[in-house]
Amino acid sequence: MAIERTLTIIKPDAVAGKLTGRIVERLERENFRIIAAKLVHLTQSQAEGFYAVHRERPFFSSLTKYMTEGPVLVMVLEAEDAIRRLRTVMGATDPAQAAEGTIRKQYGRSIERNVVHGSDAPETARFEIGYFFNALEIA
Ligand code: GDP
Repeated sequence: MAIERTLTIIKPDAVAGKLTGRIVERLERENFRIIAAKLVHLTQSQAEGFYAVHRERPFFSSLTKYMTEGPVLVMVLEAEDAIRRLRTVMGATDPAQAAEGTIRKQYGRSIERNVVHGSDAPETARFEIGYFFNALEIA
């Protein structure tokens, strides 16, 4: 399996709720290497640009408003099979459906307030990493 990069976001309510340390610790324990990180308070248009693929979905406006309600921690993670593995560690979109031991099962509050984002494919990972970081910001 190849070494991959993926983008993760610790969502606003998780940052506000001081879950950042626990989630970062879990990701490092799962052998992801943090190669870029920043705290960002997204504007509405930045959130809409990030989630542009979802603009036709009924929850788009609620999702983008939620993502702007406070700072988020955005990170690039590097690991073998990182994209698929991060999705496994995160768990299903809806915390109620997520497997035991996943981050969303442990900390998620609803299908929207599900604590973390993770890129879902190599092309999306490339787009999402480039959305937040330039080459100089990735160690
Ligand atoms: P993900 O790849 O597991 O994050 O899920 P999606 O790409 O399908 O959705 C993006 C984000 O939109 C999710 O992480 C949730 O925060 C939110 N979301 C997804 N489905 C729903 C829904 O049915 N209702 C609401 N309110 N939010 C949703």
